[in-house]
Amino acid sequence: EQNTSSQENGSTSVARLPLSKIIKSPRKRILVTGGAGFIGSHLVDRLMEGGHNEVIVADNFFTGTKDNIRRWIGHPNFELIRHDVTNPLLVEVDQIYHLACPASPIFYKYNPVKTTKTNVLGTLNMLGLAKRVRARFLLTSTSEVYGDPLEHPQTEEYWGNVNPIGVRSCYDEGKRIAETLAFDYHRQHGVEIRVARIFNTYGPRMNIDDGRVVSNFIAQALRGEEMTVQVPGTQTRSFCYVSDMVDGLIRLMEGNDTGPINLGNPGEFTMLELAARVKELVVPSASWRMVDNTPDDPRKRKPDISKAKAILGWEPKVTLREGLPLMAADFQERLGLTDKKQQ
Ligand code: NAD
Ligand code: UDP
Ligand code: UDP
Repeated sequence: EQNTSSQENGSTSVARLPLSKIIKSPRKRILVTGGAGFIGSHLVDRLMEGGHNEVIVADNFFTGTKDNIRRWIGHPNFELIRHDVTNPLLVEVDQIYHLACPASPIFYKYNPVKTTKTNVLGTLNMLGLAKRVRARFLLTSTSEVYGDPLEHPQTEEYWGNVNPIGVRSCYDEGKRIAETLAFDYHRQHGVEIRVARIFNTYGPRMNIDDGRVVSNFIAQALRGEEMTVQVPGTQTRSFCYVSDMVDGLIRLMEGNDTGPINLGNPGEFTMLELAARVKELVVPSASWRMVDNTPDDPRKRKPDISKAKAILGWEPKVTLREGLPLMAADFQERLGLTDKKQQ
């Protein structure tokens, strides 16, 4: 156990050393908050494969499920804790990937005060933990910190155009203060931090009814429903396949740069183009209709990933054309629609 009082006295006792320097464990101990979610569970797969790490997942199962990590339950290097990050957590780890936070507008708007608590108190607790055990801490921030951007594409230097009192603010302002906390723990307490600004990511295991555009279009097309293109349909997004995202997150954690670093696929599509791609690649008979939009919807978004390329040697490999059918195969199976694919 760590001796916190010696930390406060600023002494150089063992408590100030990273755990890996004290306990000669052959494996790195890694905490993944939100590890039962979409991106988190793919990250857990990658961290567990190879057997070099011990992984602890802390998740309250608000939007994640045990199904996403079922293959690891019972594995000696894996531990699952039902835990809400708004409460303190005592574990001994070398690295913390802090993903816990609902990512889909439907879920983060459902209980916006809770979303703010998750971003503020949850991030504070995980930074307090990182400080105590001298763990490296990675925050999954978001392109939403740029708001409805007035610069295009968005570089990390852009400060954003964010509504502080809107219905999305619990999420985007929440992530902005989470970034602030990370940098203040770094400057004030010397915590090693990494900040990723994730742009729209898609792939297998996305919550089928979570309301995000790629999951909506694929589920609607497979169910024989019309895809719902929100007006005007010319708004753009850039979609990154989840395996590329996980690769970028691990490179960021293992590298030497604090960030913030944009991680996303620079390929930019309008929502009408996306619907057309789903029709072409997933269900040729699919169609769409125009529906109302939601408040504060950013009109365009595309990452500038020069920094990720230069610093992490990273760029996405999976194109939308390759990724959409991979995601559709997973959705088909989970929807029990295996026979309906090529109508
Ligand atoms: P997700 O909703 O699938 O995963 C979030 C996980 O966090 C879930 O397992 C959920 O149960 C858990 N969680 C939520 N609140 C919690 C709490 N208070 N305590 C403990 N666990 C909690 O979302 P995702 O797409 O996997 O996103 C993961 C992270 O990446 C989030 O921080 C999100 O903001 C960020 N991100 C995602 C995207 C994207 O396009 N998917 C884009 C930008 C940023
Ligand atoms: N914290 C935690 N796990 C730990 C250490 C701290 O959850 O191992 C929480 C702690 O409860 C506090 C937050 O992290 O709410 C910030 O901790 P810090 O030590 O930075 O601040 P303080 O406790 O002095 O307010
Ligand atoms: N969108 C859409 N149809 C849907 C869901 C979303 O046209 O059924 C649009 C939405 O207006 C937005 C874009 O898709 O412009 C991305 O929305 P999403 O909620 O997936 O992510 P975010 O707004 O967080 O980027």
